[in-house]
Amino acid sequence: MKKYTMSITMLVIFETIAIVLWLAKDNVFYLLNFSYIGFALAIGLALFIGEYKNARRVTQVLVGTYMLIYLGVICNENMQIEGFWYYLFTGVFEAATIHYAVAKIFGPLVFGRGWCGYACWTAMVLDFLPYKTPSYPRKKWVWIRYVTFVISLVFVSSLFLAQVANIEKIMFWAFITGNVAYYVTGIVLAIMLKDNRAFCKYICPVTVFMKPMSYFSLLRIKCDTSKCISCGKCKKVCPMDVDMTDNSRNRRNGTDCILCFECVKACPEKAL
Ligand code: SF4
Ligand code: SF4
Ligand code: SF4
Repeated sequence: MKKYTMSITMLVIFETIAIVLWLAKDNVFYLLNFSYIGFALAIGLALFIGEYKNARRVTQVLVGTYMLIYLGVICNENMQIEGFWYYLFTGVFEAATIHYAVAKIFGPLVFGRGWCGYACWTAMVLDFLPYKTPSYPRKKWVWIRYVTFVISLVFVSSLFLAQVANIEKIMFWAFITGNVAYYVTGIVLAIMLKDNRAFCKYICPVTVFMKPMSYFSLLRIKCDTSKCISCGKCKKVCPMDVDMTDNSRNRRNGTDCILCFECVKACPEKAL
């Protein structure tokens, strides 16, 4: 059982969040929602510890499909960044705002970009493509994420300023069209650049929140330099071009690490 401590700890953390939110909001949805996500993460971690090679993909599909199909399409919750702005402007601390606070704004202080590795429904589809490691050096396109971030904010602000009727319905359709646009752009970019994660690196507006917060992440890949033989195998398998052999917070693309543990698996010296 001892080797599954991390998996059990993850379950306990999410169960605590589930119970606190259930009691604070007097809504059993939070109990079921966070229990399910905690369970999916714990299963993935347990499979990873048991050395099942698709462990992370199992969690990605369990959480990603639940959020996209159940919460998004069936429950009409816009969990995209537009939904976050929408609920923030209406002053409602509900699904999308709680989701952003836990997974994308304050959560990264603890688990970095874990959301991107294990739960995002956009990456869930992109990771089925064959370009698991980038074939080209990084492009200087990071500014695009700030443009998409501002567009999402301006779009929702305009709806409020113009006092448009049926905003809820518009938000639902924004969720559907936004997701289709993300998938199409993500797949085209992945094929063009031969990189599954090109969308994450250049386009995704959520990274404007996640990157600065994950800079301070408690959970991060560290290198035991006394064991490292500088073979470079870890860097070859990293989907996010991180220099994980550098232990400083300023390491190359450090805030892009999605905690996929591919580098850990590849290291012949168990230095990571
Ligand atoms: S960067 Fe954006 S699209 Fe990529 S995994 Fe993270 S949240 Fe999803
Ligand atoms: S391979 Fe290692 S450094 Fe790269 S994203 Fe995965 S866990 Fe992070
Ligand atoms: S794979 Fe291991 S030994 Fe090789 S460079 Fe990376 S950390 Fe060092």
